Amino acid sequence: MKKHIMKPKLMYEEKKAVALFLWLFNIFFIGYELIYYFLLPDSQNGVLRKPEIGLGYWYYILIFLLLPLSAYLIKKGNPYLIKYVYLWSFIVIDVIHNMLIYMETPKEYASGHIVEVLFILFSPIFVNKQYLLSVSLGMVSKYIFTGIILQDTLVLVPTSIYIVLSGIAFVIFIRINSYIRSLTRIHEELLQKEKLAVIGQMAAAIAHEIRNPLSSLKGFTQLQEERYPNMNDFYPIMISEIDRINSIVNDLMTLGKPKDLQFLKANIEEIIAYTLSIIQYQAEKQEISVETTIAGPLPPLECDSKQLKQVFINLLKNAVESMPNGGKLEIKVKVVESKKMLISIEDEGFGIEDKNILNLGEPFFTTKQNGTGLGLLVTNQIINDHRGKLKFESKLGIGTKVEVILPIKQK
Ligand code: ADP
Ligand code: MG
Repeated sequence: MKKHIMKPKLMYEEKKAVALFLWLFNIFFIGYELIYYFLLPDSQNGVLRKPEIGLGYWYYILIFLLLPLSAYLIKKGNPYLIKYVYLWSFIVIDVIHNMLIYMETPKEYASGHIVEVLFILFSPIFVNKQYLLSVSLGMVSKYIFTGIILQDTLVLVPTSIYIVLSGIAFVIFIRINSYIRSLTRIHEELLQKEKLAVIGQMAAAIAHEIRNPLSSLKGFTQLQEERYPNMNDFYPIMISEIDRINSIVNDLMTLGKPKDLQFLKANIEEIIAYTLSIIQYQAEKQEISVETTIAGPLPPLECDSKQLKQVFINLLKNAVESMPNGGKLEIKVKVVESKKMLISIEDEGFGIEDKNILNLGEPFFTTKQNGTGLGLLVTNQIINDHRGKLKFESKLGIGTKVEVILPIKQK
């Protein structure tokens, strides 16, 4: 989908750059030839230079034939090739032209066409590293080649000038490129934010509608079970499934809720103890041993404790769910850099595939049959609201370590 939107736009940019390049190339080319041969007398004898033979008129015909070729390429939908066609055609035509002129005469090689400078300085405009390198290498090797064939050391002057100009072009290219990259990143972030906002609003609306019928459904099911306790084996399943829907709805509600966070001093040990008590039942059932290490007396943490509880419930639940056959769950809390709290949660579960690490926290990304793919999204959001960081480290088949880093004081 992205490709589809981007491509025509980029093509349009390339066409604009090519058009500008073609104008400048032809103006520079014609202007230079006119000035050199028809307007500016030779400084040594004060008369106009005679056009050299070389390729003669063919030199100009070949160069101007590139124009209809460019029009054809644009029509074929391939404007990207034009810059290369011009570069290599010019180099080849000019080298042949010069060889023919200078091989026959004992004249000193005096060349260097103004369009070569244009090629180099204009190259960053195409924002294409490969092209930039082609131009630099092409121009430099053109002169080295000419120098070797003509046995002339004068070529060292344009060669070194072009190396310097290439350096400048490269710096310009890097700046343009980094600017474009940060624009793209901002654009992507905005898209993501927009996506989240839409999901949030939709989620809150749907969740709101679902909650009431759901609670009456649960109430009636429980009532039915009490009335006819032996009639139906499916009551417990029905109730637990309703509970599951309820937890999904709760996740959705958290997403859509307009947040007015209340940052108050709270005790992180209490928050962790509370969340552990919630997952304890499931952990025991799966024979998971839980180990908590708190390093020293901890300062109070400025946070919204209700939200943080949600964070740790989500993370601990994921850890427990990754160890259906038991294992060890380690929770460590300590102060780092004297103003941050580090809480790490390490499990011995399945681990996360490398290709999936980037998807963590994407809305609805889940690898579980009964997953919602909302847990980490909510977690991420809350941690961002706290100006904290969330880090994942995982080895497939060995386990996962999640680190939550929170500033102790909110500014
Ligand atoms: P859900 O738990 O509903 O699938 P989450 O957002 O909580 O949604 O997690 C998304 C996915 O990230 C999970 O489906 C799982 O593949 C992966 N994941 C998260 N935590 C862990 C973990 N501790 N071990 C292995 N995989 C994990
Ligand atoms: Mg989860």
